[in-house]
Amino acid sequence: MEKFNLKSLVRPSIATLKPYSSARDEFEDASGSENIMVFIDANENPYDNGLNRYPDPQQRKLKELLAKQKALGTQQILLGNGSDEVLDLLIRAFCEPKRDSVITLPPTYGMYDVLANINDIQNKEVLLSREFKPNVDAILDAVEAHTKIIFLCSPNNPTGNSFPEESIFKLLENFNGLVVIDEAYIDFSEQQSWIRNLDDFPNLVITQTFSKAYGLASIRLGICYASAEIIKILNKIKPPYNVNGLTQEAAIKRLGKKEKVRKEIKKIIKNRGKLVNALQKISFIRHIYPTDANFILVKVDNAGERYNQLLRKGIVTRNRSTQPLCDNTLRLTVGAASENDHLIKTLKAMQ
Ligand SMILES: *Cc1c(COP(=O)(O)O)cnc(C)c1O
Repeated sequence: MEKFNLKSLVRPSIATLKPYSSARDEFEDASGSENIMVFIDANENPYDNGLNRYPDPQQRKLKELLAKQKALGTQQILLGNGSDEVLDLLIRAFCEPKRDSVITLPPTYGMYDVLANINDIQNKEVLLSREFKPNVDAILDAVEAHTKIIFLCSPNNPTGNSFPEESIFKLLENFNGLVVIDEAYIDFSEQQSWIRNLDDFPNLVITQTFSKAYGLASIRLGICYASAEIIKILNKIKPPYNVNGLTQEAAIKRLGKKEKVRKEIKKIIKNRGKLVNALQKISFIRHIYPTDANFILVKVDNAGERYNQLLRKGIVTRNRSTQPLCDNTLRLTVGAASENDHLIKTLKAMQ
């Protein structure tokens, strides 16, 4: 096995790219000096309304808070407009259209395939096993010279399970491209984040999001943790002001409420257990898959029919039946206690 070589992995046009330098990238903070600061570099409206200035393109304050909480350097963090932007940046930095490929493991999060298609990158799909575990040997067999990224989603959406650590270790050790672990649901899991392994694997990339456990889906904030070298490449191609000022502010505020977030997560996990117990008593639910996330995948007698029945009662679920290995499955997000009670009452009446 050759050694991991980041330089040979990045697209040549990105390696030589001279990035756009925004006005606020260039200015050195001189506010510590005796000078009065006058900002006439970015053609902004000078009249203060709280939002008239461009936001910090490097989101320094927010990154410092995250870095402290995760015991990392700020140079190991990139922020994006949702994880969806972060995932897109990864593909665009490393995958040459019409030439390179990525590997994904269906049934899984649909955006990897969409982003590969948008960028004209071949997506080599290697199905999970019946227990929704990665087929490591089949994945490594599928790797070819131009395979740049393997996307792993753990805990996986829509199945809910986490992947075995030893499988992920084996992929990190035996694949010379990037192994991206999407940890959108990690805070609901007992497993630890792979962030702790960043120093050991130069090809490891982790994505997380403020959309699920942190309760801020609306602000669109995704996070990428990786080596400083990988982050530097992504920084070259990110839009200069991709994370707006309101988003940065809201995220900083939320990070200051650690205890509140922790309590909400705890409540969701507790309600998840209660919901699983109640679902076990519904006759047309044939199987409840184990979950490490804030949702539960269930197999029912007829997913299309049950989906419509629930919809008519005003309950919107996600029918995942078109996904491989997911015939007749519905994905149910764990709601507030009253919402879960309402769901169970409705399901009981449908028996
Ligand atoms: C919800 C979800 C995300 C979050 O995406 P955002 O763009 O950050 O909202 C990422 N990955 C998976 C697997 C998800 O289910």
